[in-house]
Amino acid sequence: MSISQLARSIKESVTLKLNETAALLREKGEPVIHLGGGEPKSKAPIDAVINCTSVLHTGEIRYTAPDGIPALKKAIVRYMEEHYNKLVSADNIIVSGGAKQAIMVLLHVLLDPKDEVIFPAPYWVSYPEMVKLAGGVPVIITPEDGSFHPTVKEIVEAVGSYTKAIVLNSPNNPSGAMYSKEFIAEMVEFCEKKSLYLIMDDIYNRLVFDGKSAAICYDYMKAPLEQSKLVVINGVSKTYAMTGFRIGWAIANRELIEAMGTIQSQQTSGPSAPSQWAAVGALNGVQSSVESLRLTLQNNRNVMVDRLKAFDGVKVTKPGGTFYCFPDFSAYMKDSQKLAQFLLEKVRVVTVPGKEFGFEGHLRLSYCGTIKEIMEGLERIKWALDPNSPNELFLGERKLVRDWL
Ligand code: PMP
Repeated sequence: MSISQLARSIKESVTLKLNETAALLREKGEPVIHLGGGEPKSKAPIDAVINCTSVLHTGEIRYTAPDGIPALKKAIVRYMEEHYNKLVSADNIIVSGGAKQAIMVLLHVLLDPKDEVIFPAPYWVSYPEMVKLAGGVPVIITPEDGSFHPTVKEIVEAVGSYTKAIVLNSPNNPSGAMYSKEFIAEMVEFCEKKSLYLIMDDIYNRLVFDGKSAAICYDYMKAPLEQSKLVVINGVSKTYAMTGFRIGWAIANRELIEAMGTIQSQQTSGPSAPSQWAAVGALNGVQSSVESLRLTLQNNRNVMVDRLKAFDGVKVTKPGGTFYCFPDFSAYMKDSQKLAQFLLEKVRVVTVPGKEFGFEGHLRLSYCGTIKEIMEGLERIKWALDPNSPNELFLGERKLVRDWL
């Protein structure tokens, strides 16, 4: 079969592939623990479900405006005021099929061949492939001090004549690290001065712990929005546990949003109508589910970090947000893909290799499941890796025997 060079150059999403693997193993009755997931396990807010079903009940599910229904844009305007202290208009908003599509359409609007997009490692698995899909070149910055927080200097040094945009994701998938307010302030200032696009992927910005809050980029923006190259990405997937609805959005100057709307109208004709109404329900409805999710995740994070700290040889940095932890397992195995495969084969625990996020030696462990899953998953990992473990481990009725060092 002949497929395009582009298709051949793009890797499949490892995280989505792992979901598939876990589901297949579960179907076969395997006692899988999925610490690789990227979605909260709580239910969608009731207001989202009610709004969505009432649209479905009308039986009239039609195309919508390709850049989003007015009711959702209105809800996002209000959301921006409440959570970003920023007044935007409906023309500054495009609603897409998830934050992922919003980023993809944005990259299509911004990039010419050879244009470069800079982002720090560890990074969300999709950034490099999305930049390539849009014809651009991903440029990855790896913090020299081995931490999850780049310095402004490291990013500035990577900027060249082909640099078009910088993407920052804080709190960060996969590390859970939250970039400091000083860093965000300097990056906003730098991008304004150099006339670079700054894409703030804020998809986890409300899932933040320990009484802290994520930096709001607009606090440091000097230019008016219409002259600014700052783009904010967000959506309902993580904050409202609504991954399956596929609704996200971008906020930017009118010209950019219009260009994105044109591309999106030719790509998909716009996001699904029932999902948009569900998002209206989530944004305008009772907000208690967000705080309840945040508290659950904070507690889960504490349990995971405490267990990992008791794990000789594993280095763990406490995540400031998200539902991921990104410990360094290199003392056990340097090759994270081999390590993840080993854990899946031997103890049926799904993890995501750090290599996929541009950070070898680490594993991404999600704490969006139950405490029981977290504790049992970590216990199995410890049993598999610790040479002092007893020889046998019981998974329900099944006896595992350690036949490796
Ligand atoms: N950005 C980051 C950093 C993510 O982790 C994800 C989801 N894994 C997305 C964007 C996309 O979210 P969605 O398309 O579900 O809105």
